[in-house]
Amino acid sequence: MPEADAAGRPAPFRRLALVGLGLIGSSIARGAREAGLAREIVAIDRDAGVRERVRALGIADVATADLAAGVAGADLVVLCVPVGAVGPVAAAMAGALAPGAIVSDVGSVKGAVVAAAAPHLPGHVAFVPAHPVAGTEHSGPDAGFASLFHGRWCILTPPEGTAPAAVARVRAFWEGLGSVVETMTPAHHDLVLAITSHVPHLIAYNIVGTAADLEAVTQSEVIKFSAGGFRDFTRIAASDPTMWRDVFLTNKDAVLEMLGRFNEDLAALARAIRWDDGEALHALFTRTRAIRRGIVAVGQETAEPDFGRRGAGPGPKAPG
Ligand code: NAP
Repeated sequence: MPEADAAGRPAPFRRLALVGLGLIGSSIARGAREAGLAREIVAIDRDAGVRERVRALGIADVATADLAAGVAGADLVVLCVPVGAVGPVAAAMAGALAPGAIVSDVGSVKGAVVAAAAPHLPGHVAFVPAHPVAGTEHSGPDAGFASLFHGRWCILTPPEGTAPAAVARVRAFWEGLGSVVETMTPAHHDLVLAITSHVPHLIAYNIVGTAADLEAVTQSEVIKFSAGGFRDFTRIAASDPTMWRDVFLTNKDAVLEMLGRFNEDLAALARAIRWDDGEALHALFTRTRAIRRGIVAVGQETAEPDFGRRGAGPGPKAPG
């Protein structure tokens, strides 16, 4: 099969099998259909309610609980389940994979995924792990949308020796979904994501937990005055508990390393406050403001006030 048509569009996969039709899996299904990246889309999910929604939404051609039947004949299989489930799912489907198939995933941690899945996969398939750096705090098939990956990074971490043609096809697939694709080693991915995504989520979970535990501040006050920066933490802290439990348990080393540095820097900030070192505080806040402006400049965030939310400002407002 040619890898692109005359207009440069990637050649569609014959049969795309998606395992786990949550936020990410259902967004891939929608995006792949919209961009014509697969002739047939098979949705595999263990949850009857999810399969029912997939059928009602019409985002796949087939919805089944049967993993082996679902992946049989697929030339691209993408595991869209929590990181901790990737290994067991890979083991369960391995015997049904077609020769020449490409297996990929979307897990937020890559070293653990490669270690858990690769030993189960037969030699006649190619393994190209992927991580779309895009998401929301919502879960399930109704939360997905086709444009989720538009303009967002997707990081591929193919193990050494992976067939370059398979990597190129997965790259073209993600580009077809609207992503900008970069390749790196699993270890490097896990280190970068520990500081850019995992530790920030941990901080959000922690600060919301601390606020909820404060006895001198009531829950209703926490909600009422949440616009003062806290609200953005509550959005992140609403992220899927299973997914994030797995992220921290499987990216332990990198997260603990980054957390160690974070704690040292936090102690330095506390010291600056205690000793009235306004210069140190101002210097840091100036540096961080420049980083924020850099993120906006490369199009990874909106420059609008309050992240472009409607109804920004004090007082009770609808959630953004
Ligand atoms: P989600 O909306 O909760 O969907 C996860 C799906 O996986 C559900 O259909 C779930 O079925 C299924 N599943 C869970 N455990 C399973 C198991 N042991 N065996 C088989 N199926 C299982 O989660 P998501 O946000 O799409 O996340 C999926 C993957 O994408 C994760 O690996 C995550 O790290 C990665 N990711 C997420 C984001 C994000 O922002 N959400 C961004 C990038 C990457 P049940 O309903 O039966 O549990």
